[in-house]
Amino acid sequence: MDAWPLTPGELVCLGSSLAFSGLFYYLHRKKAKVVAKIQEAPKLQVSDDLCVILSATGSSCLRYVAIEGVVQPAEAPLTSPYHKELQGVIERLVLKEHRLIWNTLARSWTDSERVVLEQVHTVPFVLTSPSGHAVGQVSVDSPLDAVELPLETVYERFQQTSHGFRDLLSHYLSGEKPKGFLETEEMLLVGSSLTGIGELALRPDGSLHLQPPTDGSAYFLCLGDWQTLLADLQSASSFWKWAALLCGLASAAVVLHALCRAYQHRKLKREQEAQRREYESLLRHNLSPLDPAEEPPENSCIICLTNLRECVLLPCGHVCCCFRCFQALPNRSCPICRGHIDRVVPLYQA
Ligand SMILES: [Zn+2]
Ligand SMILES: [Zn+2]
Repeated sequence: MDAWPLTPGELVCLGSSLAFSGLFYYLHRKKAKVVAKIQEAPKLQVSDDLCVILSATGSSCLRYVAIEGVVQPAEAPLTSPYHKELQGVIERLVLKEHRLIWNTLARSWTDSERVVLEQVHTVPFVLTSPSGHAVGQVSVDSPLDAVELPLETVYERFQQTSHGFRDLLSHYLSGEKPKGFLETEEMLLVGSSLTGIGELALRPDGSLHLQPPTDGSAYFLCLGDWQTLLADLQSASSFWKWAALLCGLASAAVVLHALCRAYQHRKLKREQEAQRREYESLLRHNLSPLDPAEEPPENSCIICLTNLRECVLLPCGHVCCCFRCFQALPNRSCPICRGHIDRVVPLYQA
């Protein structure tokens, strides 16, 4: 206890809260770095001047830029199979199976889903000037490498599974109840405003390309402007910061609790030691204690039943045990009345 003041439970709590705190801080730093990088990145719009800006920098590539433009297909666009009038450049079709699973611990049915089919189709696309006046365009390369695909849901349908009586019986026996299938179609539509954050490169043929950064930085494609993306990343960064702080506080609380307990333990030891010294000094400066031979047997210690009762427990005043048994008491309370023992003095009978 003295050498190692933490219990195994406290050690586990301390270790896990420190580990989580470190992990959350790492996530916070990672997001904060991305935020800083986006804040530093030049903010551009697709226009005729892009080639001029690039040549002014003296290189054929800008390492990290945020560029806004309007999505236009470079080839024949994709057409939604559900809405013929909708055209896009990225399409994701997902079929998910929803089912209820019997949870034996919670004694209830819980929802679960499983992706049955996922298809992503793309066609090459470019970003054109948002104002529509400039003629310049930027090809968007490897859109599937972006952190998240900039898609909006254009179609959603849930098809419920019908059950007969026999099915219901087998569901209860197997613990699995199919609910139905959810079919969704998401698209990056032609004409959407898109912000791309990545590397802008000027190819020898004079074409401009937005591509995933070669230094490993995050490649973003998002609907809307870069301020919205930045605000989202900032809130995620501060969420991880608070989570790290909370876990850090939990670790500090565990350490403080252990220190408090160790302090109480030491204080008790010191008190016991002081009482022992006081008792011995009182014994030395007064008359000799009771002579065991002269005492009737009923005056023996109620704990060991061998030695004589020789301690007056204060403040309750009970005389019930010998000093050795008093020292061995598991806590500082009187064996007769359970009152707290503040001090102990020897008993003398003249
Ligand atoms: Zn005793
Ligand atoms: Zn008492």
